[in-house]
Amino acid sequence: MPEHATTVDRAPATSPGETRTVLEEAARILGEDRVLRPRDEADESRLLGPNTSLFRSRRVAAVLRPATAEQVAEIVGLFSRTPDSGSLHTVSTGRNWGLGSREPAQDGATVLDLGGLDRVRDLDLDAGWAVIEPGVTQGGLSRLLEGTPRITNVTVSAASTSVLGNALDRGVGLRGQRTEDLAGLEVILPGGERVRVGWWPAPGRTAPLYPHGLGPSALPLFVQSNLGVVTAAVVRLPPRPEAVRVTRLTFHHADLAAVTDTVRRWVAQGLTRGVPRIYDPAAARSYGGDGNACMAHLPVDGTPASVEALTSVLTDEAHRCGLFTGVSSTEGTDPGHPLHEITGLVERAYAGDPDLADRLFEDKMGVPAHEVDSAAGFLFFLPLLPFAGDAVARADGLLREVAEETGVRLSATLHLLGPDLIDCVVAMKFAHETEAAERAHRALDRLYAAYAAAGFTPYRLDVDHAGERDALAPDPAAVALTRRLKALLDPNDAIAPGRYR
Ligand SMILES: Cc1cc2nc3c(=O)[nH]c(=O)nc-3n(C[C@H](O)[C@H](O)[C@H](O)COP(=O)(O)OP(=O)(O)OC[C@H]3O[C@@H](n4cnc5c(N)ncnc54)[C@H](O)[C@@H]3O)c2cc1C
Repeated sequence: MPEHATTVDRAPATSPGETRTVLEEAARILGEDRVLRPRDEADESRLLGPNTSLFRSRRVAAVLRPATAEQVAEIVGLFSRTPDSGSLHTVSTGRNWGLGSREPAQDGATVLDLGGLDRVRDLDLDAGWAVIEPGVTQGGLSRLLEGTPRITNVTVSAASTSVLGNALDRGVGLRGQRTEDLAGLEVILPGGERVRVGWWPAPGRTAPLYPHGLGPSALPLFVQSNLGVVTAAVVRLPPRPEAVRVTRLTFHHADLAAVTDTVRRWVAQGLTRGVPRIYDPAAARSYGGDGNACMAHLPVDGTPASVEALTSVLTDEAHRCGLFTGVSSTEGTDPGHPLHEITGLVERAYAGDPDLADRLFEDKMGVPAHEVDSAAGFLFFLPLLPFAGDAVARADGLLREVAEETGVRLSATLHLLGPDLIDCVVAMKFAHETEAAERAHRALDRLYAAYAAAGFTPYRLDVDHAGERDALAPDPAAVALTRRLKALLDPNDAIAPGRYR
């Protein structure tokens, strides 16, 4: 399948002789079966296989699949030896669909696939944490927590996606941004040294989970970062709610601004919890929408009585304000309702169950998770918006303009991250073929430009827009500071520049 062509970025420094030596040593550490090398030059850009966004396949020196954190430390040590040793691009399960899947941002990197590190090393249900490795999936962790008083904060991506990989990219779950779940990280620094930053359990240690420690905290340095390779994390496990109910509202697209301001008040006053979501008509289709109306899912959790009471306050408010064409809070419990299954799955996801069979995910993508990269066409654009009706209407207008101009079908889901902040998820689905991909990539470029001009900047980047961090940074001196840290910690570029270099 030919792919969408992009400008080739500067490749990391390598010398073929040194790369060969490093990979031979890597094979001695990991075993030959855990090292995938290209057969010839043409094979370098085929090694990772296709990606769902049809980003240009980068040339890759090799794929390494360690099985233990100790092996990761040895590998990072090898790549740190000289400026010619090559650079590593780390993935956990590599399902970063819409932003690049497993692709590095630049040519010439060696992909370090940590999917084989898949142990839950430790678990404390009383204190509410788990120590997990990069290959632990949200499906796996939620299965382990079944019937316990704790849950995991799940995303609406597939059950087979990594909890840690998503958190390190500042992904968003239904209970909040996953980065907030990180309490401690085990990091392999360039050179191969292992450090544990943030909070970490130790035998006999009774200190409660508190990620900040004393003095400057190093934990945030390793999120969206090329300063180290993360081999494990302490993640928070929220208490399991005794009851969850989702109120579903439908409304006319023309009322989007007014609804946004109304829902903002409800979020600010605690009438809905977790990450409530507002869907434009295209996004609402996946949840039973008719293609014309917008929809909102407003979750409430707590004891059965508090859920009952809050839901009643919420639905009263919704009826009274006169903005909604539909107000419903019983679909999840009413087996006769046509939306019973969908709403039930949404309620369970808010309660920490990631839909192990991927029913909603497969409905959206049209293919099972293992075929997304080879058979579906998909791109994400992820700007942040202020939680205000006029800002949301402006963003919606820009989206329609780009859709009209490019002929690409765009959908938007607003994740309400708090009373002041919205994560606006713009998704593009297209046929997995070159012409449709080119149109979608044109739309993506237009979205980056139009939203930046309106002051709506993205919080996650795709592999083709890796340079945007410099352009969008409020203070270039702050970017320069992280570059100084990079030069200090990783003088030989053992870790590839990545999307946030
Ligand atoms: C239909 C659909 C729904 C989706 N829903 C959501 C959603 O609700 N929320 C959401 O956030 N995303 C969503 N996604 C996007 C994506 O699938 C998820 O974010 C997914 O969890 C990312 O893939 P992964 O977990 O395999 O992480 P990876 O691809 O393994 O990692 C993500 C990135 O983090 C970095 N990284 C990973 N591991 C390490 C490490 N050990 N050390 C250092 N850096 C590392 C790398 O830069 C990597 O590219 C959705 C996608 C689709 C198609």
